[in-house]
Amino acid sequence: MPKNGTKYIIKIFSSGTDDARVEDWVIKFVNCKATKKVFGSCDYKKKEIHIYNRLKNVNRLSTLIHEIIHASAPFLLEESVVALEKSIIQVFKKEINNDEHS
Ligand SMILES: [Zn+2]
Repeated sequence: MPKNGTKYIIKIFSSGTDDARVEDWVIKFVNCKATKKVFGSCDYKKKEIHIYNRLKNVNRLSTLIHEIIHASAPFLLEESVVALEKSIIQVFKKEINNDEHS
C-alpha cells in the first residue's frame, strides 16, 4: 500500500469534441477513510486525484482507474465511468491472479 502522502505525477490525455490535451496531474494517496460510496476524488481545477489510503489491492487499482477516467473524460456521466471501470478491472484481476499463481 502506498504510504500516506505518496504522490504520482502522470500525464492525463484527454480529448473533447474539438480539443485534445495532455496535462500533468498529481495522484495523491491521502489518509481519509473510504466510505461505502466514496473511495477517491478528482479535482479538475487543481488537476489532482485523491485516492483514499486505506483501500487495498484491487479496490485501490479499481479506484485509480475510475478517477483517471474522470480526469481524462470529464464529460462522461458517472454511470459511464463506473461501466468502464468495471469492464477494465476484470482483466487486471485476471492478470493479478496469473502473477500470483505462476
Ligand atoms: Zn466517479
